[in-house]
Formats: sequence, structure tokens, C-alpha cells
Amino acid sequence: MIKETIQAINSQLPPQTRLVAVSKYHPAEAIMEAYEAGQRIFGESHVQELQRKATELPQDIEWHFIGHLQTNKVKYIAPYVSLIHAVDSERLLAEIDKQASRIGRKIPCLLQLHIAREETKFGFSEDELLALLQGGSHLAYTSVNICGLMCMGSNVDDEEQIATEFARAHSIFLTIKDRYFKHNTDFAECSWGMSDDYPLAIAHGSTLVRIGSKIFGSRL
Ligand SMILES: *Cc1c(COP(=O)(O)O)cnc(C)c1O
Repeated sequence: MIKETIQAINSQLPPQTRLVAVSKYHPAEAIMEAYEAGQRIFGESHVQELQRKATELPQDIEWHFIGHLQTNKVKYIAPYVSLIHAVDSERLLAEIDKQASRIGRKIPCLLQLHIAREETKFGFSEDELLALLQGGSHLAYTSVNICGLMCMGSNVDDEEQIATEFARAHSIFLTIKDRYFKHNTDFAECSWGMSDDYPLAIAHGSTLVRIGSKIFGSRL
């Protein structure tokens, strides 16, 4: 079932969009089933769980940290993580830079944009994001590589609202790309879309869809 779902999702994705299989709370056996279907990118949102799975499972897996990351926990995932999706403060960016530098890595990151209308606490507003980049302080962090933006759509049934949010996120991505990363080909990723809204995300520029329950079932 896991294998068939992964194949079905991949057949719907345009060439520029990759699947992040969100395996949080699911055991190694489920991940290996996806792995055997060819899946190599997995998303986790708990530090210890990522650390444990990364040391136990095949080394060619790319581990993405997709959840809210506490500054004091960056050091535990720094050696293992291929992409940190939800950088939501300059303080966190600075800490990732520090820990990456300490172990001689350059860690790819996405800046989290707060776009949903509902009350979620995390992420930069559009204005905060533009202020950060305009100020240029991110340029001092040479051990992080800012590769794009991440956002979560509102958790609502109204598809039009979600589509509007993803369209806005994509437009902000294009503005930022043009103003601050014009000659940086690494700034290319748009991480939006989950099990219930990924078709809308694909229609609005997503290059990374983060899909969990549709592949692995609901988490208990
Ligand atoms: C859990 C999680 C997902 C996956 O959600 P599903 O609805 O199970 O597909 C995607 N993104 C983030 C940030 C998550 O925490």
C-alpha cells in the first residue's frame, strides 16, 4: 500500500516537484517499505526521532527537518539533516550557522513564511522576511545556504482560501528571488503542500510537497 501510494503521488508531480515522505511517528519498517519503492527523502519533526532514524537507516536517505526547531536542539540534528524547512527567526538561523560551522558543514535551509489566516505562531510575516533580507544580516551566516521558502496553508476546507495563500507565497518567493537571490541558483525551493492540499500547492509553484498521512496512514 505504501509503495502504491508513493508511485501514485509521484505520477502526479511535475518534474520540478519532489516528494518529502513525512515519516514522523512511523517505524523503520514503514520507512523501509517506502525506501524500497525508491523514496529517498523523508521528513521528520522531532529531533531525537530524526537522530535515531538517521543513524539506523540507510545512509543514502536525505533527512529533512520539517517541524518547529528549538534553538537549543539544532546541534543534535546538524550532522544528519539535508534540509531544515522551517527557519522562523534570525536567532535560529544564527544557531544553525554556528552548529554547521562547528562540524564543517553548510546546511541548506528554508525560511518559513507565515501565510495562513489562522493562529499559528511560527514563521516570518512577509514584512519581517523582507526586512531581514533587506538588512543583509543573513549574508554573514556563511555555513547556512538559504534555498527558498516554506509555508503551511490554513487547515480549512475552503480550497479557494488555500489556493490564494499558496499563490501569495509563490508571489513572495518570486519577489524575494528577484530582489535578493537573483544570481543564486540554489534559491529555488518552495515547500508547500501536505496530504490534503498538495494538488493546490503544485498548481502554485511548490517544488517540495510534504506528505505524511496519505502515505503512512494516520499517526496514533
Ligand atoms: C506532519 C507534517 C506534514 C505532513 O502532514 P500530513 O497531513 O500527514 O500529510 C507536513 N508538514 C509539516 C510541517 C508537518 O508537521
